Amino acid sequence: MTVRTRFAPSPTGLLHVGGIRTALFSWLYAKHNNGQFILRIEDTDRERSTDDAKNVILDGINWLNLDYDEGPYFQTDRFERYSEIIQELLRSGNAYYCYCTKEELDVMREDALRQGKKPKYNGFWRDRDATPPTNIKPVVRFKTPLDGNVVINDFVQGKVIFQNTELDDLIIARSDGTPTYNLTVVVDDMDMEITDVIRGDDHLNNTPRQVNIFNALGVSEPNYAHIPMILGIDGKKLSKRDEASSILKYRDDGYLPEALLNYLVRLGWSKGDQEIFSIDEMISEFDLQSVNKSATTINPKKLLWLNQHYIKNSDNEKLIFMLNSFFDDMNILTDTGPDLSDLVSVQKERIETVKDLAEQSVFFYKDFKKYDEKMSKKYLKPALLKPFRVLYDEFDNDACWDNETIKSILNKLAEKFDIKIGKLAQPLRVAITGKNISPSIYDTVRLLGREKTLKRLSNAIKFIESLGVS
Ligand code: GLU
Repeated sequence: MTVRTRFAPSPTGLLHVGGIRTALFSWLYAKHNNGQFILRIEDTDRERSTDDAKNVILDGINWLNLDYDEGPYFQTDRFERYSEIIQELLRSGNAYYCYCTKEELDVMREDALRQGKKPKYNGFWRDRDATPPTNIKPVVRFKTPLDGNVVINDFVQGKVIFQNTELDDLIIARSDGTPTYNLTVVVDDMDMEITDVIRGDDHLNNTPRQVNIFNALGVSEPNYAHIPMILGIDGKKLSKRDEASSILKYRDDGYLPEALLNYLVRLGWSKGDQEIFSIDEMISEFDLQSVNKSATTINPKKLLWLNQHYIKNSDNEKLIFMLNSFFDDMNILTDTGPDLSDLVSVQKERIETVKDLAEQSVFFYKDFKKYDEKMSKKYLKPALLKPFRVLYDEFDNDACWDNETIKSILNKLAEKFDIKIGKLAQPLRVAITGKNISPSIYDTVRLLGREKTLKRLSNAIKFIESLGVS
């Protein structure tokens, strides 16, 4: 039988790392087993579903290249099918109309609590022949078996047993006829021939209800794997502050898809001590047995480390493609600065994200308005005037413009003025970049080019002169 998994997010909140990790595990499981991966958008909660959230799901999945073989299916397109199944369950005696009012349900709940019982629907309309009230639109409830149990052999949680007496007759259609989550999931998993459901363990309690519905429909349920939650840095549920904002934020922050996927696969799954997994390795190594049972905590530093690793090992072409979109947003015209491949080769050795790469390269293209105040105070001192003037002439005179020439000019200058090269390099860096952080001084000068270097050096000389000491 072909393995078929699905990712079935509800577009009621923005898809975040937790959701994408579920998608990744489902995708990997399908790929590992030469199976198929299906995308299904569970958008039946029309009030809480938003287009924004839908787009984040589609764009996020697309950005991360988690290609799906079928879908996206939208549950809102399938209401007729759900009604059909609800009617079938009513006809076969596995479901019934319930006319209880909200007030009656409240009383029921209070009575149960008073008797020290779990508050649940008491089955009032379950086998009742009474003439139904005409002024009430009924809900449809599923007839949960009155005894016995549901055994789930979960791939991650192991054997989990639920007593049917713990479950009540759940509502499968609201009074306006719309189906509820547990019903739609079963109908879809059945119709889409899903063999393995991989989802968050917050759904574990829904599983016995779904299994009972499968049984009532005479269809065998899929296998289940309930994966544990991802926790925020504070050990609590993910909050917007940590990683619970849209997955696309990672794209906008300059992360590489493969770095994020590598990071996510290791959140709750391991293979010995191995940290770096190519997509192919993930596919060949992934198994549900090695998924942790307990929750995992996010680790943003590790993600940065992985991103740096993938950036370092990326083709320049690919990085340039990403970099260009950051530059576009920053209105940077790339023909006003260094060759992009040259720039990327230098920068990729030292930055952690492509956004950093863009932000830390702006000075190559655009003149800065003023020096970093602290740095100019610290480095642009009168003692530099003379060396800078000589340097200006040297840079102006020499025909070559490569690292070797620049290095030898700076070395000679340091010798001439009897200062350490470092004492020269940092002020020069501030003079030509405005700040104290950039690639090696030789790369910085070379990439900046003779014309800009001279212009900025001249500005720095004027700046130091304006301090009033010659
Ligand atoms: N739509 C559900 C959610 O977003 C997931 C349902 C499932 O995977 O069965 O939490």
